[in-house]
Amino acid sequence: MSDAPFDFFDTHVLRTERLSPSFVRVTFGGDCLARFAGGGRDQRFKLFLPHPGQARAELPTDPLNWYPAWREMDPAERAVMRSYTVREQRHSPEELDVEFALHGDTGPASRWATRARPGDHAVLLGPTVADNGGVDFRPPPDTDWVLLSGDETALPAIAGILDWLPAGTEARVWLEVPDPADRRWLPTRARSEIIWTCRGRSAISMHDSIRDAVLPGGTPYAWIAGEAGGVRALRRVLVNERGFDRRQVTFTGYWRRGTTEDQLLTEGTLAAVGED
Ligand SMILES: Cc1cc2nc3c(=O)[nH]c(=O)nc-3n(C[C@H](O)[C@H](O)[C@H](O)COP(=O)(O)OP(=O)(O)OC[C@H]3O[C@@H](n4cnc5c(N)ncnc54)[C@H](O)[C@@H]3O)c2cc1C
Repeated sequence: MSDAPFDFFDTHVLRTERLSPSFVRVTFGGDCLARFAGGGRDQRFKLFLPHPGQARAELPTDPLNWYPAWREMDPAERAVMRSYTVREQRHSPEELDVEFALHGDTGPASRWATRARPGDHAVLLGPTVADNGGVDFRPPPDTDWVLLSGDETALPAIAGILDWLPAGTEARVWLEVPDPADRRWLPTRARSEIIWTCRGRSAISMHDSIRDAVLPGGTPYAWIAGEAGGVRALRRVLVNERGFDRRQVTFTGYWRRGTTEDQLLTEGTLAAVGED
């Protein structure tokens, strides 16, 4: 245990649930999660997974200087590190849900989630204070309405944001998923309108739908995340075509086609956690 705003949490899988064709929910447990202080919304954390054949995720113990120490470890031995979102956290008993968008065996995290079983070991690097740098959804006080948009990797964050929004907040939401059966009910007290598009199958793409939409009046705040190229393109639509002030658009590339998260880390283009 340390006084750092982020710490490692030694957890194990309690159960898994296949939510839809592209999603599995993994529920992590462990008494240490009582100290995990998620801020809700799009709270991100780092997930450390064992390699196939390893019983435990191998990683440094010092939460303050973990990154250089992890980089110096043998990549074949050190835990696989990936970024994920806290979908929901519950106490007594300690439980934390993560929803994995599955993309086959093309990445270690997707492969791990597909096969996860109760008792499997994993380590989380997450916040010990609720007001932490791992939350990006921060609408300015003068916001009149909120626009949320993302692909399947951002669905858990958008669900968390909708859960958190104060009653009556006006929210326009666009979600793009691989399969029509991935659409689901997202609980919220906001006055939300959710438009689902299905990649390659819907009559209109998510970007065109946003480009053509009749939007509410007043000052907007937009939060967009997902595949990096799509996020950049949508930001251009909002700023150049829909007249959004660029300071009112929070955008994050959650993954990039053809690039692993390790490569994004090496480039320094990945959203940080633990060092902010
Ligand atoms: C802040 C943050 C929060 C995130 N939260 C979530 C979350 O809650 N749930 C979630 O599912 N993802 C989330 N992601 C995205 C997730 O971290 C990436 O999809 C990650 O690359 C998955 O790791 P992997 O080991 O499966 O694949 P990698 O080894 O990283 O990549 C292997 C290959 O698969 C491709 N790839 C990666 N992701 C996908 C995908 N979804 N579909 C198709 N191809 C893909 C890559 O381009 C690469 O070619 C988040 C990312 C960030 C930065």
